[in-house]
Amino acid sequence: MSGRYAPSPSGPLHLGNLRTALLAWLQARLANQPLILRMEDLDLPRVKPGSREQILKDLRWLGLDWDEGPDIGGPSAPYEQSARNPQYQQVFQQLLDNDLVYPCYCSRKDIQQAASAPHAHEYGPIYPGTCRDPARRAAIKQRHPDKTATWRYRVPRHTIEFEDRIIGHMSQSLDREVGDFVIKRADGLFAYQLAVVVDDGMMGITDVVRGADLLDSTARQIELFETLGYPVPSFWHVPLMLNDTGTRLSKRDGADSLDIWKQQGKSPEVVLGLLAFTVGLIDEERAISKLELVQGLTLDLLRDKLINRL
Ligand code: GLU
Repeated sequence: MSGRYAPSPSGPLHLGNLRTALLAWLQARLANQPLILRMEDLDLPRVKPGSREQILKDLRWLGLDWDEGPDIGGPSAPYEQSARNPQYQQVFQQLLDNDLVYPCYCSRKDIQQAASAPHAHEYGPIYPGTCRDPARRAAIKQRHPDKTATWRYRVPRHTIEFEDRIIGHMSQSLDREVGDFVIKRADGLFAYQLAVVVDDGMMGITDVVRGADLLDSTARQIELFETLGYPVPSFWHVPLMLNDTGTRLSKRDGADSLDIWKQQGKSPEVVLGLLAFTVGLIDEERAISKLELVQGLTLDLLRDKLINRL
């Protein structure tokens, strides 16, 4: 049994990321489970130099701790996705051997033109499956002779159902709402969807506490957990922190990092209190120590309070 927090070092954590980290930490501590810290630095072009160290420093400043991680090691090392390529490659080969992935040469324009229903998916039109068919794939490849393949997972006609610990019952049809999704990108990098499942599976993660923006990825990940024979963890999709105009905080918009708070001389307890208050764990905004926070909660209470926030 273990939980994890898996930040991407694409910039300093903003208050919303820190709140999710706090919730992952609380879940693990209240469940008496180890917590693993994993750096999701798979998307190398988006990794910012120094960001990994900054993240570790900020989490420590807040008082959070973990039992395994890039700075302290552990039995499931390495804890950086950039060092786990052999593991991803091995699983990719397994999918390939079982004919569960295929190369795709479609351009973005091809997909847009071929998709009969260009709605439905948050990340663009559902892939219409053109390159599933070897003859059509050959024709597309001929049109783009210099294009390197992306590799797509062949989704079955199947609806994934799961009980999110916070959001409740979820259901997503892989063929109608998701489509064949990318497992390996044209630049050779493995996709987040594959890496996260291999990592969680190999690290024996039983509880995934993360932001609700990843709810839409969960059905794909459950499909991969099941195909690869890993136990499916419980998912706790926690509310995202919103700014004054009601939109979610984003690293790209330069949302609040801890530095602003540190410069104002705020203590970790003040920031912990703010994070806890904004997600309904305490009734008034006040400084609170992590010990007091843990002592005032149980796992059920944490869950109830998060459910009440929806
Ligand atoms: N690395 C992702 C992020 O920072 C989280 C992925 C996950 O928790 O599954 O948003």
